[in-house]
Amino acid sequence: MEKMNSLINEAESLLLHTYNRYPIVFDHGDGVRLYDLNGKEYLDFVAGISVFALGYNNKEFNDALKAQIDKIIHTSNYYYNEPAIKAAKRLLKASQMDRVFFCNSGAEAVEGAIKTVLKHAFLKDGTTDHEIIAMEHSFHGRTLGALSVTGNPKYREAFEPGLARVKYAKMNDLESVKALVNDKTCAIIFETVQGEGGIYPATEEFIKGVRKLCDEKEILLVLDEIQCGMGRTGYMFAWQKYGVKPDVMTVAKALGCGVPIGAFLMTQEIADSSLVAGDHGSTYGGNPFVCAAADKVLELFEQNNIIDNVKNVGDYLYERLESVARDHSHIVAHRGVGLIQGLEFDGPVSPIINAALEHGLVLINAGSNIIRFVPPLVISKQDVDEMINILLECLD
Ligand SMILES: *Cc1c(COP(=O)(O)O)cnc(C)c1O
Repeated sequence: MEKMNSLINEAESLLLHTYNRYPIVFDHGDGVRLYDLNGKEYLDFVAGISVFALGYNNKEFNDALKAQIDKIIHTSNYYYNEPAIKAAKRLLKASQMDRVFFCNSGAEAVEGAIKTVLKHAFLKDGTTDHEIIAMEHSFHGRTLGALSVTGNPKYREAFEPGLARVKYAKMNDLESVKALVNDKTCAIIFETVQGEGGIYPATEEFIKGVRKLCDEKEILLVLDEIQCGMGRTGYMFAWQKYGVKPDVMTVAKALGCGVPIGAFLMTQEIADSSLVAGDHGSTYGGNPFVCAAADKVLELFEQNNIIDNVKNVGDYLYERLESVARDHSHIVAHRGVGLIQGLEFDGPVSPIINAALEHGLVLINAGSNIIRFVPPLVISKQDVDEMINILLECLD
């Protein structure tokens, strides 16, 4: 106890206070369990926020990282490296895209996607006053460009105007998108399932409608799959369920399972008419170490049939949460699919999350009123039962 408290005090005197943290120091993990410095065990339904898909301390993953460390960690993007080629091959196959740029985070992937659509529009007409349509309640990251398409005024307020040419439509309201389109619109960006904003999946009607609108008006469709991608919805990428395809997409979070890597991907057509040598770069982006991680993650996804497990356990989680929602009058909605689901309450959920932590269950909010369930993708039905039992205790 002492050691954990003194570390927490030290952290608060050293680290910039941009997070209100829970008073826990996690020390190690195994499968879907986390252990704090005092040895207390927790069932993890957060996965480092949609990151640790494979479960903690996965031996094959760890061994692949160690092997790459002993070979080479970094070179430079002015040379080729084999892990990047292997990771690209797997990621492009899984995503049905043609070209990838590896970067270091989700926000950077969104930055790259924005630069891609702006350059594409610039090449078409030589002007630089193009507009992007994003969604209210969206989240695309904390750097200035990604923040500019993030539809949460609270996050943007002190940093306006950012990218001035962004307009916000309502998710799942095609008419609100159409109303913002003009001849300067170059791209429409949204998360296939809104994550931070409260777990709002795009409806089939909306995603197909936006695709059609984009085709008619020569606008690029950018889908942010950073949180909902990598198998979490029961499809490798959430849009694959709908039979439509984006022009540009972003991936990060689970792609490296804890190793910092993101990517933006595009079709060949967009690659041929956007960024060229000199337009974009990153010192670390796609280095041998992070790409060895992504390559292994993608290999293990296939080898371990991760997506089948998501479908299976995700449906079960859905049933169980539905019945919890039916029985509790303070729960106003249950949304989501696969292993990205949310329960919306009629008030703040922080007391429930704190009680869950006391009981050895890690949960996280999305907004103040919503509990989000984004566990490691290797979770089992028994783990779901255990989670539900603790949740029910905390609700009473
Ligand atoms: C987390 C997230 C980001 C930002 O990713 P970082 O790695 O934190 O920069 C962007 N878009 C979505 C949908 C996210 O969930």
